[in-house]
Amino acid sequence: MNCLEYRRALLAGEGETDAMRGHRLQCASCAETMREHREMEADLRRALELPVPVGFEDQLLQAVQRLEGAPEPAMPSRRRFLAAASITAAAAGTGYLLWRDREDPMALACIQFVMRDEAKSLMMGAMPRAEAARVLADTLPLERIERIGRIRHIAPCPLGEGTAYHVVLMVPQDKVTLLVMPDTTLPARGRAIREGLYATVLPMRRGSVGVVGTSSAVVESVAGAIRA
Ligand SMILES: [Zn+2]
Repeated sequence: MNCLEYRRALLAGEGETDAMRGHRLQCASCAETMREHREMEADLRRALELPVPVGFEDQLLQAVQRLEGAPEPAMPSRRRFLAAASITAAAAGTGYLLWRDREDPMALACIQFVMRDEAKSLMMGAMPRAEAARVLADTLPLERIERIGRIRHIAPCPLGEGTAYHVVLMVPQDKVTLLVMPDTTLPARGRAIREGLYATVLPMRRGSVGVVGTSSAVVESVAGAIRA
């Protein structure tokens, strides 16, 4: 079992198998992911034990039903409930989840994009290369991205109030998602961790760039290459 397989199995919520445990005991990075994952679930459980406003549970159930709309591997219902709670609470910006305050909202939006909208962007197809080169030129030139990894997909997608150019980039160790946002200005660099995904957002001379991946080391190294 490798790190990616471990993380996918962890996120599927089936509980840790012997093979997973074997990997975690000799991999510091996956041990850390497991610890964060357990903390997040504990935070969510505590949050869900608070008295909630009338209608909140209905909203969660509707979110669960939306999640179930797409065919995917079966998840235990408790796990589905937690996943829906996490998405709904983040999207609604409720104050129940204290840990959310420690996390950068734009970096979280990038993680949410990968969880909810990446597959849709891939299905809609890529934009022409010449067009991509033109729209990215002032923020993160296409040639610079191509020096970091192999571009598998690039397409415009709505993100927050503006447009993000969604780039799926293969680097030697992993797959990362870039969200190039020419019209989104950031005051400072931000980071977030959620659902086993790591995100960082970087202010650029014009606009900003988000980097999302399953490994903090890979996300940091790609961010370093973007700023170089
Ligand atoms: Zn590992």
